[in-house]
Amino acid sequence: MRVVLLGPPGAGKGTQAQIIAGRLGVPAISTGDIFRANVSGETELGLQAKSYMDAGDLVPDEITVAMVKGRLAEPDAKGGFLLDGFPRTIAQAEQLRASLTDLGHALDCVLELVVDEEELVRRLSGRRMLVEGQMVQREDDKPETVKKRLAVYHDQTEPLIEWYKGKALLHRFDGTRTPDEVHDRIRATLATKRLEDEL
Ligand code: ADP
Repeated sequence: MRVVLLGPPGAGKGTQAQIIAGRLGVPAISTGDIFRANVSGETELGLQAKSYMDAGDLVPDEITVAMVKGRLAEPDAKGGFLLDGFPRTIAQAEQLRASLTDLGHALDCVLELVVDEEELVRRLSGRRMLVEGQMVQREDDKPETVKKRLAVYHDQTEPLIEWYKGKALLHRFDGTRTPDEVHDRIRATLATKRLEDEL
């Protein structure tokens, strides 16, 4: 299965991505995680991405698309994948579609997690990560940057919802439910998709 997980920062994409990918037996590919690993590793890619990420902006499409294409070409992604945090612009979605078409593939579905803005701000401001034994706040979870990321989502990523709706790929889920409830609903949708594929 080739699946895209879409939703604003703080909607719970990372949590769902891990569970769903595990069940489907495909890799969960998070562009945010790949960028963060490159920033901590101080790689060339990390250096290019860092200033955009810290400001809550998107990393330019050329950089992001090249990175994702490289990742999708790895052997574990040949049979399917779950993308978390990509595409985030129409241009990225078009490039993804073109590279899949070249390989004779297509997306099976796009899962959107829907959460209202008030709840997102509440979740992101309280979020902490464990780094070297300490709970720390992600640089881009600081209040001003959170506002910026939500605005960027609204302006650049939300248009993708209509784009995918037009291609009849979109399924929406209430992300304010518990992670287990969200997962159960996603699983039911994916099961129907699988049946359709087998018919
Ligand atoms: P969230 O969904 O919580 O905002 P991510 O971990 O997915 O966080 O992304 C963190 C940052 O990494 C983004 O704010 C952006 O700077 C960069 N990033 C991740 N994915 C993309 C993408 N597809 N295109 C451009 N930038 C991206």
